[in-house]
Amino acid sequence: MPLNICEIFLSLQGESTFAGLPCVFIRLSGCNLNCQWCDTPYANQESQSIVTDQILKKIDSYNCNLVEITGGEPLLQKETPALISKLVDKSYHVLLETNGSISIKDVHPDCIKIIDIKCPSSNESESFLSENLTLLSQKDEIKFVIGSQKDYEYAKSIIEIDLQKISREKIHLSPVFGQISPKDIAAWMIKDNLHARLSLQQHKLIWNPDKRGV
Ligand code: SF4
Repeated sequence: MPLNICEIFLSLQGESTFAGLPCVFIRLSGCNLNCQWCDTPYANQESQSIVTDQILKKIDSYNCNLVEITGGEPLLQKETPALISKLVDKSYHVLLETNGSISIKDVHPDCIKIIDIKCPSSNESESFLSENLTLLSQKDEIKFVIGSQKDYEYAKSIIEIDLQKISREKIHLSPVFGQISPKDIAAWMIKDNLHARLSLQQHKLIWNPDKRGV
């Protein structure tokens, strides 16, 4: 069965505990949210239908063991869990970046889910599916994109109430690039000894922040 693909490319992983490692990205088309600061709006506009076998062949050609499925929102497409399972079966180390609004229940347990919890400045903070918190494994990671102090306080309250069982190195606070100083978030985290880590988007520091395919 085909999937709607925006782009496939090899770069360095810019976020998560895998930051800095070479990684193949499969960006799927389409998203069900409309975040205020979305940095991949083109994932809603560009789409090519590609069958799974062709996707796998392309991934094999990069000779890179780490693969991230991202978007858009990858779980909008019904075939995504099957693609993930095929990659896991081929011994790829698979990451799934998802916006948190769709259940992760059908995703292969060996795939590492990196789940966004949207904060108020995104205008999508009502979108999180709380069932996903009960489906997390020890390997999975959580990301809050922080655009304001209100976002920080929002993330802090969720971390303190719901995420204490997740190790702090797997809970990421990521500044909205160009909108808030990482220094401010760092100061708040140090003051609160927050159970989380500050994660900067490495790809935006290495290359032009608007550059695609990195
Ligand atoms: S969920 Fe991700 S891709 Fe969708 S609008 Fe928000 S930032 Fe953009």
